[in-house]
Amino acid sequence: MADERDNWRVRVRTIRGVMGVCHLLVEPDGRGAVLLDTGLVGEQGQIRRALRRLGLEPSEVRAILLTHGHLDHVGNLAWAKAWTGAPIYAHAAEQALIDGTFPYAGVNRWCGRLERIGRALLGVGAPAKIDRAIADGDELPWWGGLRVVHLPGHTPGHCGFYSARHDVLFSGDLFASYFFKVQVPPPILNSAPELMDASLAKAQRIGARFIVPQHYDVLDGELHRRRFDRLLARRVRWRAERGQMTV
Ligand SMILES: [Zn+2]
Ligand SMILES: [Zn+2]
Repeated sequence: MADERDNWRVRVRTIRGVMGVCHLLVEPDGRGAVLLDTGLVGEQGQIRRALRRLGLEPSEVRAILLTHGHLDHVGNLAWAKAWTGAPIYAHAAEQALIDGTFPYAGVNRWCGRLERIGRALLGVGAPAKIDRAIADGDELPWWGGLRVVHLPGHTPGHCGFYSARHDVLFSGDLFASYFFKVQVPPPILNSAPELMDASLAKAQRIGARFIVPQHYDVLDGELHRRRFDRLLARRVRWRAERGQMTV
Protein backbone atom coordinates (compact mmCIF):
# COMPACT_ATOMS: atom_id res chain seq x y z
CA MET A 1 0.00 0.00 0.00
CA ALA A 2 2.89 2.34 0.76
CA ASP A 3 4.10 1.81 -2.80
CA GLU A 4 0.66 2.48 -4.19
CA ARG A 5 0.48 5.78 -2.37
CA ASP A 6 3.96 6.94 -3.26
CA ASN A 7 3.99 5.86 -6.88
CA TRP A 8 0.94 7.77 -8.06
CA ARG A 9 3.12 10.28 -9.90
CA VAL A 10 4.14 7.75 -12.55
CA ARG A 11 0.45 7.49 -13.43
CA VAL A 12 0.01 11.23 -13.96
CA ARG A 13 0.99 12.97 -17.21
CA THR A 14 1.21 16.71 -16.94
CA ILE A 15 0.10 18.74 -19.96
CA ARG A 16 1.33 22.25 -19.33
CA GLY A 17 -0.47 24.95 -21.28
CA VAL A 18 -0.20 28.71 -21.49
CA MET A 19 -2.29 29.31 -18.37
CA GLY A 20 -2.69 26.09 -16.47
CA VAL A 21 -2.13 22.38 -16.40
CA CYS A 22 -4.35 19.55 -17.45
CA HIS A 23 -3.62 15.92 -16.69
CA LEU A 24 -3.85 12.46 -18.08
CA LEU A 25 -4.45 9.96 -15.30
CA VAL A 26 -3.24 6.57 -16.48
CA GLU A 27 -5.22 3.52 -15.44
CA PRO A 28 -3.47 1.11 -13.02
CA ASP A 29 -3.10 -1.55 -15.75
CA GLY A 30 -1.71 1.03 -18.19
CA ARG A 31 -4.56 0.33 -20.61
CA GLY A 32 -6.41 3.58 -20.78
CA ALA A 33 -6.49 6.95 -19.13
CA VAL A 34 -8.85 9.73 -18.17
CA LEU A 35 -8.30 13.34 -19.17
CA LEU A 36 -8.68 15.81 -16.32
CA ASP A 37 -9.58 19.18 -17.90
CA THR A 38 -8.67 20.03 -21.48
CA GLY A 39 -6.61 23.25 -21.45
CA LEU A 40 -6.87 26.33 -23.66
CA VAL A 41 -7.79 26.21 -27.32
CA GLY A 42 -4.71 25.37 -29.39
CA GLU A 43 -3.20 22.96 -26.89
CA GLN A 44 -4.51 19.88 -28.71
CA GLY A 45 -1.01 19.05 -29.98
CA GLN A 46 0.26 18.70 -26.43
CA ILE A 47 -2.61 16.44 -25.41
CA ARG A 48 -2.07 14.31 -28.53
CA ARG A 49 1.67 14.00 -27.85
CA ALA A 50 1.16 13.11 -24.19
CA LEU A 51 -1.23 10.33 -25.12
CA ARG A 52 1.06 9.04 -27.87
CA ARG A 53 3.99 8.88 -25.44
CA LEU A 54 1.88 6.65 -23.23
CA GLY A 55 1.33 4.34 -26.19
CA LEU A 56 -2.41 4.93 -25.99
CA GLU A 57 -4.98 5.51 -28.72
CA PRO A 58 -7.57 8.30 -28.44
CA SER A 59 -10.26 5.61 -28.08
CA GLU A 60 -8.49 4.47 -24.88
CA VAL A 61 -9.37 7.73 -23.14
CA ARG A 62 -12.19 6.48 -20.94
CA ALA A 63 -13.63 9.79 -19.80
CA ILE A 64 -13.09 13.53 -19.74
CA LEU A 65 -13.42 14.91 -16.22
CA LEU A 66 -13.88 18.64 -15.66
CA THR A 67 -13.08 20.54 -12.52
CA HIS A 68 -15.11 23.50 -13.88
CA GLY A 69 -16.11 25.34 -17.02
CA HIS A 70 -13.62 28.22 -17.35
CA LEU A 71 -12.05 28.67 -20.74
CA ASP A 72 -8.55 27.59 -19.66
CA HIS A 73 -10.05 24.22 -18.65
CA VAL A 74 -12.60 23.59 -21.41
CA GLY A 75 -10.91 25.25 -24.40
CA ASN A 76 -10.37 21.91 -26.13
CA LEU A 77 -13.42 20.18 -24.73
CA ALA A 78 -15.45 19.77 -27.92
CA TRP A 79 -12.32 18.69 -29.80
CA ALA A 80 -11.34 16.21 -27.06
CA LYS A 81 -14.81 14.68 -27.02
CA ALA A 82 -14.86 14.29 -30.81
CA TRP A 83 -11.26 13.00 -30.90
CA THR A 84 -11.65 10.40 -28.16
CA GLY A 85 -15.37 9.64 -28.19
CA ALA A 86 -15.16 9.76 -24.38
CA PRO A 87 -18.07 11.06 -22.29
CA ILE A 88 -17.73 14.34 -20.38
CA TYR A 89 -18.22 14.21 -16.61
CA ALA A 90 -18.84 17.54 -14.86
CA HIS A 91 -21.19 19.21 -12.38
CA ALA A 92 -24.40 20.26 -14.14
CA ALA A 93 -23.95 23.88 -12.96
CA GLU A 94 -20.89 24.17 -15.22
CA GLN A 95 -22.81 23.75 -18.49
CA ALA A 96 -23.68 27.48 -18.61
CA LEU A 97 -19.98 28.33 -18.21
CA ILE A 98 -19.03 25.91 -20.96
CA ASP A 99 -21.73 27.42 -23.19
CA GLY A 100 -20.63 30.99 -22.44
CA THR A 101 -24.11 31.86 -21.12
CA PHE A 102 -23.32 32.05 -17.39
CA PRO A 103 -24.84 35.16 -15.75
CA TYR A 104 -21.68 36.67 -14.25
CA ALA A 105 -22.58 39.34 -11.67
CA GLY A 106 -20.81 42.01 -9.59
CA VAL A 107 -17.00 42.12 -9.90
CA ASN A 108 -17.25 38.65 -11.44
CA ARG A 109 -18.57 40.39 -14.60
CA TRP A 110 -14.93 40.99 -15.42
CA CYS A 111 -14.44 37.27 -15.61
CA GLY A 112 -17.35 37.09 -18.08
CA ARG A 113 -15.75 39.85 -20.17
CA LEU A 114 -12.38 38.08 -20.18
CA GLU A 115 -14.06 34.83 -21.15
CA ARG A 116 -15.91 36.54 -24.04
CA ILE A 117 -12.72 38.20 -25.28
CA GLY A 118 -10.84 34.89 -24.98
CA ARG A 119 -13.55 33.03 -26.90
CA ALA A 120 -13.51 35.62 -29.69
CA LEU A 121 -9.71 35.78 -29.92
CA LEU A 122 -9.22 32.04 -29.79
CA GLY A 123 -12.14 31.25 -32.06
CA VAL A 124 -13.82 28.86 -29.65
CA GLY A 125 -16.32 26.78 -31.61
CA ALA A 126 -19.54 25.09 -30.57
CA PRO A 127 -19.60 24.14 -26.88
CA ALA A 128 -19.77 20.50 -25.83
CA LYS A 129 -22.51 19.02 -23.69
CA ILE A 130 -21.87 17.38 -20.34
CA ASP A 131 -22.78 13.70 -20.76
CA ARG A 132 -22.84 12.67 -17.10
CA ALA A 133 -23.65 15.15 -14.34
CA ILE A 134 -21.54 14.52 -11.24
CA ALA A 135 -22.30 15.43 -7.64
CA ASP A 136 -20.49 15.46 -4.31
CA GLY A 137 -19.63 11.97 -3.10
CA ASP A 138 -20.01 10.23 -6.47
CA GLU A 139 -17.49 7.43 -6.89
CA LEU A 140 -15.98 7.23 -10.36
CA PRO A 141 -14.34 3.96 -11.40
CA TRP A 142 -11.08 5.23 -12.91
CA TRP A 143 -7.56 5.48 -11.50
CA GLY A 144 -8.41 2.93 -8.82
CA GLY A 145 -11.43 5.04 -7.79
CA LEU A 146 -11.98 8.79 -7.78
CA ARG A 147 -14.45 10.47 -5.45
CA VAL A 148 -16.11 13.68 -6.58
CA VAL A 149 -15.64 16.50 -4.07
CA HIS A 150 -17.90 19.48 -4.75
CA LEU A 151 -15.86 22.58 -3.90
CA PRO A 152 -18.00 25.56 -4.97
CA GLY A 153 -16.83 29.14 -4.74
CA HIS A 154 -14.61 29.70 -7.76
CA THR A 155 -17.63 28.56 -9.81
CA PRO A 156 -20.93 27.06 -8.55
CA GLY A 157 -20.16 23.56 -9.79
CA HIS A 158 -16.41 23.54 -9.21
CA CYS A 159 -15.30 20.01 -8.23
CA GLY A 160 -12.17 18.28 -7.07
CA PHE A 161 -11.44 14.56 -7.39
CA TYR A 162 -10.02 12.51 -4.54
CA SER A 163 -8.18 9.21 -4.91
CA ALA A 164 -8.22 7.25 -1.64
CA ARG A 165 -5.95 4.64 -3.23
CA HIS A 166 -3.18 7.20 -3.75
CA ASP A 167 -4.34 9.74 -1.11
CA VAL A 168 -4.28 12.50 -3.75
CA LEU A 169 -6.75 15.35 -4.08
CA PHE A 170 -6.95 17.00 -7.49
CA SER A 171 -8.20 20.37 -6.32
CA GLY A 172 -8.94 22.24 -9.56
CA ASP A 173 -8.81 26.01 -9.13
CA LEU A 174 -9.46 26.00 -5.38
CA PHE A 175 -6.03 27.61 -5.14
CA ALA A 176 -3.03 28.20 -7.37
CA SER A 177 0.38 27.02 -6.17
CA TYR A 178 3.53 28.66 -7.52
CA PHE A 179 6.76 29.23 -5.64
CA PHE A 180 6.30 33.00 -5.92
CA LYS A 181 2.61 32.99 -5.07
CA VAL A 182 0.13 30.67 -3.40
CA GLN A 183 -3.37 32.08 -3.48
CA VAL A 184 -7.07 31.47 -3.91
CA PRO A 185 -8.24 32.85 -7.26
CA PRO A 186 -8.62 36.65 -7.31
CA PRO A 187 -12.15 37.96 -6.56
CA ILE A 188 -13.03 38.83 -10.17
CA LEU A 189 -12.67 35.15 -11.09
CA ASN A 190 -14.98 33.80 -8.39
CA SER A 191 -18.70 33.37 -9.03
CA ALA A 192 -19.74 32.21 -5.55
CA PRO A 193 -17.10 33.74 -3.22
CA GLU A 194 -19.33 33.30 -0.17
CA LEU A 195 -18.80 29.54 -0.50
CA MET A 196 -15.02 29.70 -0.79
CA ASP A 197 -14.09 29.35 2.89
CA ALA A 198 -16.35 26.35 3.39
CA SER A 199 -14.82 24.66 0.36
CA LEU A 200 -11.26 25.36 1.55
CA ALA A 201 -12.15 23.86 4.95
CA LYS A 202 -13.81 20.87 3.27
CA ALA A 203 -10.72 20.20 1.18
CA GLN A 204 -8.55 20.39 4.27
CA ARG A 205 -10.82 17.99 6.19
CA ILE A 206 -10.21 15.31 3.55
CA GLY A 207 -6.68 15.29 4.89
CA ALA A 208 -5.08 14.14 1.63
CA ARG A 209 -1.33 13.62 1.85
CA PHE A 210 -0.94 14.98 -1.68
CA ILE A 211 -2.74 17.86 -3.39
CA VAL A 212 -2.50 18.65 -7.09
CA PRO A 213 -4.14 21.86 -8.31
CA GLN A 214 -4.57 22.81 -12.00
CA HIS A 215 -2.27 25.85 -11.82
CA TYR A 216 1.13 25.06 -10.34
CA ASP A 217 4.88 25.03 -10.90
CA VAL A 218 6.07 21.47 -10.18
CA LEU A 219 4.24 18.16 -9.80
CA ASP A 220 4.95 17.72 -6.11
CA GLY A 221 1.79 16.83 -4.21
CA GLU A 222 3.41 17.09 -0.79
CA LEU A 223 4.72 20.57 -1.56
CA HIS A 224 1.26 21.74 -2.68
CA ARG A 225 -0.29 20.20 0.43
CA ARG A 226 2.13 22.18 2.65
CA ARG A 227 1.49 25.39 0.71
CA PHE A 228 -2.26 24.80 0.98
CA ASP A 229 -2.01 24.45 4.78
CA ARG A 230 0.02 27.66 4.99
CA LEU A 231 -2.47 29.47 2.78
CA LEU A 232 -5.34 28.44 5.04
CA ALA A 233 -3.48 29.39 8.22
CA ARG A 234 -2.73 32.80 6.70
CA ARG A 235 -6.37 33.24 5.69
CA VAL A 236 -7.65 32.32 9.16
CA ARG A 237 -5.17 34.76 10.77
CA TRP A 238 -6.15 37.51 8.33
CA ARG A 239 -9.83 36.97 9.11
CA ALA A 240 -9.22 36.83 12.87
CA GLU A 241 -7.34 40.13 12.81
CA ARG A 242 -10.38 41.71 11.17
CA GLY A 243 -12.85 40.03 13.49
CA GLN A 244 -14.37 37.99 10.65
CA MET A 245 -15.59 34.46 11.03
CA THR A 246 -14.31 31.58 8.99
CA VAL A 247 -15.97 28.22 8.61
ZN1 LIG B 1 -11.04 28.75 -13.14
ZN1 LIG C 1 -7.95 27.88 -14.21
